[in-house]
Amino acid sequence: MKQLLTALLFTTSMTVSANNSEFTAKQLQQVDEVRTTALKSDLSYQLLESLTTEIGPRLPGTENDKKAVAWAKAKFDELGFDKVWLEEATFPEWRRYSESGKILTPSEQPLHLTALGNSISTPKEGISAPVVLFETLDELKAAPANSLKGKIAYINYRMNRDIDGNGYGPAVKARATGAIEAAKKGAVAYMMRSVSTGHHRFAHTGGSYYKEGVTKIPNVTIANPDADQIARLVALNKDVSVNINVQTENLGEGTGYNVIGQFNGTENPEQYVLIGGHLDSWDLGTGALDDGAGVALTMAAAKHISDVKRPKRSIRVVLFAAEELGLWGAKAYFAKHKNELNNIVAAAESDFGADVVYGFESNVNAASLPVVRAIAKELAPLNIEYIGQNEAKGGPDLIPFKNAVSAPIFELAQDGTDYFDYHHTADDTLDKVTPAKLRQNTAAYAVFALMAADAKTTIKPKARTKE
Ligand SMILES: [Zn+2]
Repeated sequence: MKQLLTALLFTTSMTVSANNSEFTAKQLQQVDEVRTTALKSDLSYQLLESLTTEIGPRLPGTENDKKAVAWAKAKFDELGFDKVWLEEATFPEWRRYSESGKILTPSEQPLHLTALGNSISTPKEGISAPVVLFETLDELKAAPANSLKGKIAYINYRMNRDIDGNGYGPAVKARATGAIEAAKKGAVAYMMRSVSTGHHRFAHTGGSYYKEGVTKIPNVTIANPDADQIARLVALNKDVSVNINVQTENLGEGTGYNVIGQFNGTENPEQYVLIGGHLDSWDLGTGALDDGAGVALTMAAAKHISDVKRPKRSIRVVLFAAEELGLWGAKAYFAKHKNELNNIVAAAESDFGADVVYGFESNVNAASLPVVRAIAKELAPLNIEYIGQNEAKGGPDLIPFKNAVSAPIFELAQDGTDYFDYHHTADDTLDKVTPAKLRQNTAAYAVFALMAADAKTTIKPKARTKE
């Protein structure tokens, strides 16, 4: 143990005194100071507690969404950001009013369900119909035309649990487009097993879409134990029928705001490191994990940097609007700034809960790799491994950025093993966040953002489509 400790201390002091051409010894000392401060500070937790307690759920377009925008602007001001501003974003506004369900046959019992975002209402008395089970979206697609007339199409696909959340992508296809495929076969409603690793009776909501020219049908998910129950009944060759009742409303185009705070750089203030998360959340929980944590920890990370120094380039924290309904804030941000995207020297979004960061990854040109390796070295004391494939994908709000140009994207990969137990449920609440883990995340973002903003070399993406 003593040997290990000596080794750790030795490594740390070597890092600080190393003759690194990207950073001076003084700069590395400042990185150390920022990391130490962030690891001791509860600022990110306090911000998260304030957002989730004083405001709560933040469905785009609601009163709470507007309050969250005012909250974020006030917090940026309080924290002393040099520049704080709002940028408009529009999105299709939607509300959930009530929802309930039951299994009718072979024996009556409650069915724990939730409407997917964008779902239309059922009639007031709900829809009662037989269930036809498919294991996958492809199976549903292969069903004969009109074979689901008067039926509820049900997809039983279960997502798998893994540290990097790789089970989410394959499962989410059935959430996004399942109702379209079901309606094409004549179904009166669409139901699916939640995109979930949970063992509780919370159903998971999420974004879903309709298609022009295809009948819109109500669109719900059910909790995992309820999905198991239906699968067992079907396996017993029982005729299963259910009643689903969701009351919702589509309100047309709504308006919200990206809230942005910046600490200005001292040498190249027009160039900036972009960090952030999305300010909106689903309406069921309080959006602590998704994505209050990302909002709070990136705001706090920037503040910790500013307490030590103003780096050469600016640090910009962007809190995106209406991510959950389809990345509307991100689309608006990158469209508005499309002629100056090459000012972004590094971008990372935190939107994967609040568990520890375990990996660091870049997506940059070869000339920028020495900076990346220097950052990785300073993240190592936080137990963060350098992945080193240089293939970072980044958070969801960076998708429009990647689509617009080849982008210098970074990933501080979080442990997502438990994330999909809570994601998009009523159970996404503050008690799921461990303060020490949030501090580690905050320190990681602070080290990364400071170094990317203060390096000698300006980080560039692999190849730009525009200069
Ligand atoms: Zn999110």
